[in-house]
Amino acid sequence: MNVIAAALREILQGPVLVGEPLRRHTTWRIGGPAGLFIAPQSEEELLAALHLLARVNMPWLALGTGSNILVRDGGFRGAVIHMGALQSIAFRDDGTVKVGGGLSMMRLIRQAVQRGLAGLEDLAGIPATVGGAVKMNAGAAGQDMAGVLEGALLAGSEGMEYWTAERLDMRYRASAVPSDRIVAAAILRFTPGDPERLEACVQQRLHARRKAQGVGKPNAGSVFKNPPGHQAWRLIDESGLRGHSIGGAQISEKHANFIINRGGAKAADVLSLIGQIQEVVRGRTGIMLEPEVQVIGEA
Ligand SMILES: Cc1cc2nc3c(=O)[nH]c(=O)nc-3n(C[C@H](O)[C@H](O)[C@H](O)COP(=O)(O)OP(=O)(O)OC[C@H]3O[C@@H](n4cnc5c(N)ncnc54)[C@H](O)[C@@H]3O)c2cc1C
Repeated sequence: MNVIAAALREILQGPVLVGEPLRRHTTWRIGGPAGLFIAPQSEEELLAALHLLARVNMPWLALGTGSNILVRDGGFRGAVIHMGALQSIAFRDDGTVKVGGGLSMMRLIRQAVQRGLAGLEDLAGIPATVGGAVKMNAGAAGQDMAGVLEGALLAGSEGMEYWTAERLDMRYRASAVPSDRIVAAAILRFTPGDPERLEACVQQRLHARRKAQGVGKPNAGSVFKNPPGHQAWRLIDESGLRGHSIGGAQISEKHANFIINRGGAKAADVLSLIGQIQEVVRGRTGIMLEPEVQVIGEA
């Protein structure tokens, strides 16, 4: 590990850390250590790092805000690539906007709204990066990333490739971004809107989120996808599971599709709770809830 870390330090200006606790980088505040933790400062550094990691055959994982990830307690033995430094935003003459994969969605939405660009205002308050939002096709209140996405620059060990939105095949909380590619940048096309009306919409969304989702403890948003024709929170609630806990993990009293970390929760606690929810809901309704959160790493 140290030899690879030294090679990475030769090509990266940003940090190259060994054994960084991933609980510091997930909204759940849960997760074991990363073999290596790097934060490329540019698209060029990202490509160089991916090339090197492929040469030494080391697995890697892209990390945005860590708002949809459950890292197991044994951590991730490969390299975690933190995208936080790729924050560029360029409003281009052809009407499109090119944004870095590490840009915070909230920053993007604020800039778009100021310029009277509509299409993502309903996503205000989702604590995501652009890359994570593309990968997961983040959405809320009828809007999603698919609605504005023209395409994305995907970085891999062989270089950068442009994928159109069609090829990215955006679906409900999923896309075709392969696990060996990173969204280095996205190309978006907004529609014209009135800045005042858009700002009012942002404020309303933020208020609604605080009211419905202000659970007061670390969490990763909705744990399960909504099955067709159903709402996951309702299925969990009607199964009498609201407030149920295992170890430090508890189904939120306020939002039954949120699992909170009451303090000191292990990934194992959350996984046991997920398993129990699936079992109880399936036994009562026949519906198997599918996790939305991405579970990674080793037990
Ligand atoms: C309080 C709260 C509310 C939420 N509300 C919503 C909501 O309303 N709607 C919704 O859709 N989601 C919601 N989420 C979930 C989450 O914010 C989204 O799934 C978001 O898109 C994840 O972005 P991220 O940058 O945090 O990705 P991460 O959690 O860091 O990563 C998620 C996945 O994307 C991959 N990934 C991250 N960055 C990249 C990249 N640059 N290139 C390729 N792959 C990448 C990761 O490897 C992982 O597989 C909520 C979460 C929280 C905590």
